[in-house]
Amino acid sequence: MKIHEYQAKELFKRHGVPIPRGEVASTPEEARAIAEQLGGTKWVIKAQIHAGGRGKGGGVKLADSLDEVTSKAQAILGMTLITPQTGPEGRVVKKVLVGEAIPIAQELYAAILFDRTQACPILIASAAGGVEIEEVAKVSPEKIIRIPIDIRSGLQSYEARKAAFDLGLSGKTALKAASLLSALYQVYIREDASLVEVNPLIVTESGEVLALDAKMTIDDNALYRHPDVVAYRDLDEEEPLEIEASKFDLNYIKLDGNVGCMVNGAGLAMATMDIIKLAGGDPANFLDVGGGASVERVAAAFRILMSDPNVKAVLINIFGGIVRCDRVAGGVIQALEQVKVDLPVVVRLEGTNAAEAAKMLEDAPIQFGVARSLEDAASMVTRALKN
Ligand code: ADP
Ligand code: MG
Repeated sequence: MKIHEYQAKELFKRHGVPIPRGEVASTPEEARAIAEQLGGTKWVIKAQIHAGGRGKGGGVKLADSLDEVTSKAQAILGMTLITPQTGPEGRVVKKVLVGEAIPIAQELYAAILFDRTQACPILIASAAGGVEIEEVAKVSPEKIIRIPIDIRSGLQSYEARKAAFDLGLSGKTALKAASLLSALYQVYIREDASLVEVNPLIVTESGEVLALDAKMTIDDNALYRHPDVVAYRDLDEEEPLEIEASKFDLNYIKLDGNVGCMVNGAGLAMATMDIIKLAGGDPANFLDVGGGASVERVAAAFRILMSDPNVKAVLINIFGGIVRCDRVAGGVIQALEQVKVDLPVVVRLEGTNAAEAAKMLEDAPIQFGVARSLEDAASMVTRALKN
């Protein structure tokens, strides 16, 4: 689950990561009141959406007076912010973070995430902050510091200090940066994050080290341990069809293609998407209906597929290992009595009682394309698109 910058900063504060002062606002008046309370002469207004690159899209603005705070907050609130990470449709801004503007001496980068290759958390840091890390990795990979972390002992202080020195910092600034990195690891581990990213991590003109930006993703499987983090969930930032799917425990991710897929098991779902591509089609989604594939779930899955206007054909690919194919076929036929589906549906069932299942589908009042193999299914569904 992704959270907003202002929420991530609340968690940062809890674990001792230094951040600039600031509060979240939903109206220009609130924004002005926050600026007034913060005091000072310069403020920053930052759009709160679940995507980075806001600065480039016009979602981060500085203000030199309280009137400017009001007018800039007014301009950002309600705008459709398009950044390199939102896609062309952009996101409507509902909240802004109003903070003190900080005189920046240096912009660095720091992140902790899970490295699946080395099977451990990894600290990534770079002196080239404020720009996209992917770009740095491409152009000058030597500028990226990587420190794999032993999950049993955590990030050691000497490792944090080494990272700070490798960033080119020295003296008290280096020690402050090291202590920030250690606190960042606490955020990562205590809050069960899969990603904590600070870009930029800054050194101020007075030598302080602060997390100016904060991006966090929390491991969904650990959310039960964090009711306070669950309360951060912002449904406005999520795909409506994915929210609907989560109500039925369906693992659904919307994509841009036109072949709706319904599959049991995540691995088979991935393979199905691959084979659709191979046959020249384009999957409209990833959808894992789970092992059971009950009538209710299959019906919910059909409803979700049908609400995506891009879907022009459906491929059902079920492996009857735990569940018997004839039961699944029965479920599909019954579900189609509940949900109107006026698109070509190709079904491939393999495993226990597959022959009985194929017979049931052929005898059903609804016209299915019954496929004999995975390749057959993929070519049938891509052919159906052309008709
Ligand atoms: P994003 O990564 O979404 O573009 P950031 O929080 O990184 O958003 O802000 C973009 C840029 O705006 C930063 O690199 C920094 O230069 C500037 N900025 C952000 N917050 C402040 C602040 N509190 N004071 C001064 N400048 C800021
Ligand atoms: Mg940033």
